[in-house]
This record gives sequence, C-alpha cells and structure tokens, in this order.
Amino acid sequence: MENKFILKDCEFIKSPNFDHRPKNTVVDTIVIHCISLPEKNYDNENVTLLFLNNLNENLHPSFGSLDGLRVSSHILIKRDGQLIQYVPFDKRAWHAGKSEYKGRTNYNDFSIGIELHGSVSDIYTEDQYLSLKNLIDELKEIFPSITDSNILGHSDIAADRKNDPGPNFTWEKIK
Ligand SMILES: [Zn+2]
Repeated sequence: MENKFILKDCEFIKSPNFDHRPKNTVVDTIVIHCISLPEKNYDNENVTLLFLNNLNENLHPSFGSLDGLRVSSHILIKRDGQLIQYVPFDKRAWHAGKSEYKGRTNYNDFSIGIELHGSVSDIYTEDQYLSLKNLIDELKEIFPSITDSNILGHSDIAADRKNDPGPNFTWEKIK
C-alpha cells in the first residue's frame, strides 16, 4: 500500500534509529542540519552507514567520537541534490538531540530532520537548495502546520552544542 510518509521517486533506506512520535503529535517544524564523514568528504556512503549503525569507527580518527551513537534523519540531500530517505515522516527520527527553542523542547517529537551533505565551513550546492525547497513544499502539503517560521537550523534549537547548518547556509533561498 502506498505510504504518503515515504517519498516517491526517492531512494528509501530504512534506518533502525527511529521510534514513534508521542500520541497526537502535530508535525509543524523542519530542522536543517549538515553532515559529512569525514568533514567535507562527500564521495562516500558514510552518512548512510552511520544511520544504519554500520560505520566502522576505525576508518578515520574523527569517527571515534561516533562510536555507539544512534542517530538518523528523515532525509539526506546529497551534493547533486539527490535525496535519500531513512525514516518515514510520521515516525520520530533521532537528529535533534537535547533541544530547546522558543519555550519548546524535544524537537525530535514534532519535527522533520533534513541533513544536507555538507559542512559549516563549506558552501552548499545550488542543486541542494533546489531539492530542499521542493522538499519543503512537499512537506508543507503533508503537514499543513509547517510554516516558514518553523523551519529552523540545528543551531537554533541546540545553540550551546551545535552550529549547523552554519553561516554559509542562505535562508533566503528556501523561504
Ligand atoms: Zn545537526
């Protein structure tokens, strides 16, 4: 049966790192992140491996800190704008961590997590902005409570820990 919470025409690789949203949750927020493993290296599948709990932490010194980490996002937008989905949108992905903004906490509960394959010290590609904008439009149709003011960066909701998507992310391109 068709599942409106899984994108059509998009690769779906199911991550085990998800659970149920609290009962009666209204999804009204999008959280934008960036990730690359190692940082600024894009020609590999390491983000997918991380979300599948299959990343070998011995591959790179920077991976040691990821040992035992159980994380996921709903979507990864690759450098060429291609999307991979890991978690159905009605389920809770594990991307926000400890989070607080405008009096709300636990952003994983009511948000969609989108990772851009990138780095806070790199620029994002035009293909990524285009795909992100299209994806946001699609998500607004599925979840009408999502508004532009609820499209946030990880740095907004975890200001003491996180700085992604970073100063190079051009918000005007998606709002
Ligand atoms: Zn993040």
